[in-house]
Amino acid sequence: MLFSWWKNRRRRRILAETFPSAWLEILRTEVGHYHVLSQPDCAKLRDTIQIFIAEKDWEGCRGLEITDTVRVTVAALASVLILGLHDFYFENVQTILVYPSEYVVKQKHAIVGDLALHEESERLGEAHSNGPIILSWDEVQANAREPGFGENLVFHEFAHKLDMRNGEFDGTPDMPTRDLAERWSRIMNDEFRRLQRAERNGRKTLIDPYGASDPAEFFAVVTECYFDAPQAMRAEHPVLYNLFREYYQQDPAAWPAFPDRAVR
Ligand SMILES: [Zn+2]
Repeated sequence: MLFSWWKNRRRRRILAETFPSAWLEILRTEVGHYHVLSQPDCAKLRDTIQIFIAEKDWEGCRGLEITDTVRVTVAALASVLILGLHDFYFENVQTILVYPSEYVVKQKHAIVGDLALHEESERLGEAHSNGPIILSWDEVQANAREPGFGENLVFHEFAHKLDMRNGEFDGTPDMPTRDLAERWSRIMNDEFRRLQRAERNGRKTLIDPYGASDPAEFFAVVTECYFDAPQAMRAEHPVLYNLFREYYQQDPAAWPAFPDRAVR
């Protein structure tokens, strides 16, 4: 109780500051989504960005300097996801690590006794359940400047954090009502299997086939499509679109359309 009182007081102080004109310029030139949101949503986005930037720790990796452009772009895209959610600012994300581009992760798997397998894999981003979000800046910047492909790394990794909020990493974030939870389970299951079938048969799909790997990845890639190719998603997956609309409490298909790049 005391904690939330302090937190709210601190946030009121953050919001009493004027939104910097340099940040506004970054939104206008770097973030395509800023041009399609309604005026009230743009105002809410600016507030959310101010709180988000003030409350997170930012670390540049492999020589990347954390500039205002990096902070505002990442904060703006993460904030798009939570515009309709009540009083949530990704409290489960403390640190954001940003690499200039793809990074290599070395993993060691024990096999038996002293034997171990060393693996290297290239990654664009990660979300750790009790740790940081990791992002590649060139991918973030390209997604921000040119929305409409149905792909967005920031949406993807922050969707994982929404999913993890209830302690489970299973493609089912906290549901506001029991009725929605029941429909969520049925519809997500049907659509996940539909994507798996398409993937097996080699059919092209609007939703990234990577989502067929497991339900948690499915929720993340559908979130990318929902906010980045919303009109196409409403046309091709109306039931899934309406389900996400109830969860996110936003209607992105009503935004002016981005240039149609989602057709593969
Ligand atoms: Zn993922």
